[in-house]
Amino acid sequence: MPDVTIPAHLLPDDGRFGSGPSRIRRGQVTALEAAGRSLLGTSHRQAPVKTLVSRVRQGLTDLLSLPEGYEIALGNGGATAFWDAAAFCLVRERAQHAVHGEFSSKFHKVTNAAPFLTDSIAVTAEAGQVALLEDADGVDVHAYPHNETSTGALSPVRRVGSGDALTVVDGTSAAGGAAVDVSATDAYYFSPQKALGSDGGLWLAALSPAAIARIEELTAARWVPTFLDLGPALANSRKDQTLNTPAVATLVLLAEQVEWMLERGGLAWSAARTAETSGHVYAWAEASDFATPFVAEEFRSPVVVTIDLDASVDGTAVTSVLRAHGVVDVEPYRALGRNQLRFGLFPSVPLEDVQALTACVDHVVGRLA
Ligand SMILES: *Cc1c(COP(=O)(O)O)cnc(C)c1O
Repeated sequence: MPDVTIPAHLLPDDGRFGSGPSRIRRGQVTALEAAGRSLLGTSHRQAPVKTLVSRVRQGLTDLLSLPEGYEIALGNGGATAFWDAAAFCLVRERAQHAVHGEFSSKFHKVTNAAPFLTDSIAVTAEAGQVALLEDADGVDVHAYPHNETSTGALSPVRRVGSGDALTVVDGTSAAGGAAVDVSATDAYYFSPQKALGSDGGLWLAALSPAAIARIEELTAARWVPTFLDLGPALANSRKDQTLNTPAVATLVLLAEQVEWMLERGGLAWSAARTAETSGHVYAWAEASDFATPFVAEEFRSPVVVTIDLDASVDGTAVTSVLRAHGVVDVEPYRALGRNQLRFGLFPSVPLEDVQALTACVDHVVGRLA
């Protein structure tokens, strides 16, 4: 551990810059405390928790400006569970995937390995780039991540293909922090512990009428494990419930965060905020003699910013000094194996903290040299 001290006046007010789990605001924790003797520890089949789920579903409907006929469904297990559920309940025969990082690769592996589906198509691009899908024969699900969290590359969100092929978009780290036109998707799914600043363990999905019809078609036609069956998931969601017991605290934190965003102007407000904070970091890196944005300008994410460090800078030393000062989770995605910093700049992270973060990095790199 290098012996470098960061002066207290340079440090951010809050040092959590993780890309998920991510910073949870004090106001959310206060709301959780307030729920401590009312909602927490009470039945999810009774009105108070159902009202909480309704706040989440209505809030997300507003935040994402859901088109007519779209519905918010939710269930336990996070986006990872949704991949398995999608293989059973959304892919009829064959899926095509954009693969340009760890998360997009994982979903491809899921559908590719499903014994009841034809081998999936992977359209690949190098880490840091974005694979763009085009229509393909015999494909009934086109899947890509909105934000590839492992690399910080943002895809344009647009409908792929024709006929009744579904566009299924992993919005896990983007939802709530980046602008999106949900009408270009049939399933826009995400977990709450990233841009939405809650805790993990839940998946949420905005489903189009076509996706709902596909769920009805496939779950009537094939065996589906109950836990991965989007039919009962949707039926429960419509009643503001989940198939099995949810973490009520996660729902409290989530409802609070969604309403916090709505009160400030919704997705337009949060997207402007992440554009500003990420813009600060990209400009800082462009001007720096030891830091460079990893992703080409066209695909730079506003919510997960990846910055390559010059070979003369020991990235691990930088992140360990930062960590020792409470500035945490800026390590690069483990499997990427680059000399890099990765910042989760979700809407809960104010500009002042991001300015302090880059000042801290400058200080540490200067002292290490
Ligand atoms: C984090 C993440 C996932 C996995 O989410 P879990 O809640 O851990 O299952 C999937 N896709 C993307 C893009 C992610 O960022």
